[in-house]
Amino acid sequence: MSFINISQQHQRVSFKDAVLNPIGENSGIYFPHDIKPLDKDIFECGDFHQIAVETLHNLTHNELSKDKLGSMVARAFNFPLELHSLTDKNHILELFHGPTLAFKDFGARFLAECLTEFNQQKATIITATSGDTGAAVAHAFHGQPNVEVVVLYPEGKISKEQEQLFCTLGDNIRTVKVDGNFDNCQSLVKQAFNDEEVNNKLNLNSANSINVARLLAQVCYYTALPTLIQQPIDNLVVPSGNFGNITAALIAKHMGAPVGHLIAATNANDTAPRFFNHKQWLPQVTQRTLSNAMDVSQPNNFSRILYYYQHKLDQLFVDMSALSISDAQTRQTIKELDTQGYQVDPHTAVGMHALSKMNVGQTNNLVVSTAHPAKFADVLEGILQKPISRPSAISECLTKPNLSIRIADDFDDFKEYLLALD
Ligand SMILES: *Cc1c(COP(=O)(O)O)cnc(C)c1O
Repeated sequence: MSFINISQQHQRVSFKDAVLNPIGENSGIYFPHDIKPLDKDIFECGDFHQIAVETLHNLTHNELSKDKLGSMVARAFNFPLELHSLTDKNHILELFHGPTLAFKDFGARFLAECLTEFNQQKATIITATSGDTGAAVAHAFHGQPNVEVVVLYPEGKISKEQEQLFCTLGDNIRTVKVDGNFDNCQSLVKQAFNDEEVNNKLNLNSANSINVARLLAQVCYYTALPTLIQQPIDNLVVPSGNFGNITAALIAKHMGAPVGHLIAATNANDTAPRFFNHKQWLPQVTQRTLSNAMDVSQPNNFSRILYYYQHKLDQLFVDMSALSISDAQTRQTIKELDTQGYQVDPHTAVGMHALSKMNVGQTNNLVVSTAHPAKFADVLEGILQKPISRPSAISECLTKPNLSIRIADDFDDFKEYLLALD
């Protein structure tokens, strides 16, 4: 039983159960039960897929064979992981070379592999998105037999590029724009899960970021860092919203990945930075910013971090810190990097600015780039006052018809829609 319910610590489940039923007793979410270091020679093997297999095998306590994991990993991570060095001390880990141009592809595609492996009956995945998750999930499941996907998103609150990437696919992918905000979408999804009639008819599953499959997939690119860069990383900056990506980085660190201090870079939604400064957890109203995928004031994954450090909270403040970056600073960084010939999206810019505020001197630093700049081309064009080139993944979908249907923020309407699906 490799996963523990962090709210109900007597409940331990297998990886399969944690994936299929991501919410445990007392609404608790799961975390790897014990995190053991990887052998040193694994870090030195030089191959991303091989390190990913070893990482997943270790965290799931050998529940899936290495052969099985090998084919899942090869299909899920079928795009490059790239390092861009700005100087010999400052590096950027580009996680955006997947089909939907954001790091969410790693988690969504591995989750799709897990659900295909574990789910025997037909299932319906319902998920709410603030932009990037929807596209990653839709692409990961597009064309898969036995799975229907319904993605809800807030009308008018995501970029055109984000929307067209997943609302033009069709087939088993249905997209629903809601007259409301992201929280309203999330609440409709929760109500669907709590509705027995809907649940029984559709065999619901969520592709939400709380699913451990997504978390584990993200650990792999951090344990694979030695395949990309020879020197250990002293400071690792992760642009953060729901704190899943940085939780994965912490797990990798405890598995022996060569990373020192971790820095969560947030936008104006600064619940975590205030916690690191004043040791108090005081969420405020969510603010809209340029880095919309990080507009989260109650990050779901923070409870996982607190669980892991529950008996060693002082160590958390040694291992990690958090900084809040304003939209003005984000714009400034986008402009500065552009003059140096490197374009970043607003989320990556938050990370780059956080690095510039740290007194890092001669250390070796890495900032995680979470999205391709073209995914936020509209925003960048406004800031840089020049056209941004778009890769074919974006330009092609921009001309296709948007297949979304529109609903009010009303569960009865949504339920009627779901029950009419065949
Ligand atoms: C989801 C997302 C983030 C935030 O990641 P978390 O794991 O939620 O902290 C940052 N940048 C982009 C582009 C994203 O899509």
